[in-house]
Amino acid sequence: MGAGPVNVPRSPRGLSASSATPSSGQQRLVDELRSQGVTDERVLAAVARVPRHEFVDDALKNRAYENNALPIGHAQTISQPLVVAMMTMALLRGRKPQRVLEIGTGSGYQTAILAELVPTVFTVERIKPLSELARRRLAGLHYRNVHFGYADGINGWLPYAPYDGIVVTAGTETVPPALISQLSPSGRLVIPVGPQGAQSLRQIDRRGAGVREQDLGRVSFVPLLPGKH
Ligand code: SAH
Repeated sequence: MGAGPVNVPRSPRGLSASSATPSSGQQRLVDELRSQGVTDERVLAAVARVPRHEFVDDALKNRAYENNALPIGHAQTISQPLVVAMMTMALLRGRKPQRVLEIGTGSGYQTAILAELVPTVFTVERIKPLSELARRRLAGLHYRNVHFGYADGINGWLPYAPYDGIVVTAGTETVPPALISQLSPSGRLVIPVGPQGAQSLRQIDRRGAGVREQDLGRVSFVPLLPGKH
């Protein structure tokens, strides 16, 4: 294994103060994502800027730039970087969303990637300690364009709707209707759908009164659960 994460200078430019220069771990991860089909340079640049080691416990920091999901406590995981990149790429393909809602803040890593690329990010989490830790992390990294909610995201987040994009980072057997209704008229939902063990990532675009759905391939997410915890 190569060098672990290194401290990189923070740059106060743009929307955030994420890394100015990617560490060797970040660069390896970017190269791996590129080789696995992540073609959107904006997404790769965001992965190069966000210090993933800040989003995992100390004991896992030396594994932060592996292309794997890792435990974050409360029986949850920080998503695999390839999946984060694919979801973000799907959300941005062919459009420039201004307001994006994430369901399932978890560690806040996907939130930070979105905050690098979208003017305003809303994120909701049903487990309070995870929501609070992610809020502190992103504040520490100087992201100022993220609104955190402690809520059951199955109902979306009505006070700030509609959203140009919604990404759900937990799997569900059926698409919650509130998420479709909180999309703007040309909004896009990216969501893992299907039974545990047989989920696929769906891109659902709102089209007038209806929707257009595309299957983006197999994924494996922790379940989207009802209620707050
Ligand atoms: N994007 C996160 C993924 C965390 S795992 C990351 O990369 O770290 C999925 C998260 O979704 C968990 O934190 C889980 O608590 C949360 N979750 C599950 N059901 C939810 C719901 N109904 N509303 C909000 N968050 C939910």
